[in-house]
Amino acid sequence: MPGVGNLGAAKFSLLEGVAGIFHVGQPVSLAAVATTEQHMRPTWDDYFLDLVDQVATRATCDRGKSGCVVVRDKRIICTGYVGSPSGMPHCDDVGHDLKKVMDDDGTVRQHCVRTVHAEQNAIVQAARYGLPLEGTTIYCSMEPCRVCAMLIASTGVARVVARHRYHAGSDTPEILASAAVELEIIEDTVQDYEGQ
Ligand SMILES: [Zn+2]
Ligand SMILES: [Zn+2]
Repeated sequence: MPGVGNLGAAKFSLLEGVAGIFHVGQPVSLAAVATTEQHMRPTWDDYFLDLVDQVATRATCDRGKSGCVVVRDKRIICTGYVGSPSGMPHCDDVGHDLKKVMDDDGTVRQHCVRTVHAEQNAIVQAARYGLPLEGTTIYCSMEPCRVCAMLIASTGVARVVARHRYHAGSDTPEILASAAVELEIIEDTVQDYEGQ
């Protein structure tokens, strides 16, 4: 059947043409494929800080929603977000438990005490699962508060990277410095939230 023969010849010719372009049977270098945009990979600090934002979406108290990611050798050890202890009610469900505290200068602030901070939750998660934090870097939404800074100093964390400053974090640089913990604030701005 001449029709089939012609078709076969056409297929053969097409395959030969493809082979001529792509070198069938040989590896093709992806570098040879032109791209219109150069993909910019984030730095490791930007990468982990972006993950902190994602972790913070699990926070159960909407006052100063924050999260943190603890990293060693570019690998995540554990994470934490603002939240109630396991089994206890969440602010999102039963409302905040606000207590007034007075600063040294007489300024009265309100703190929600139903939850523990992101850093504290990460540290207790590490304790529960037997994960040493010696030499790790902790990435945080905000500069750790005084209590978190003291806990961080005691766990052996080597470096703290925070996106923003914290309105009640004035003691933190001194506490971390005294424990030889490096502190890096990415944006020198205080993160505001309602009723702080
Ligand atoms: Zn709350
Ligand atoms: Zn704290």
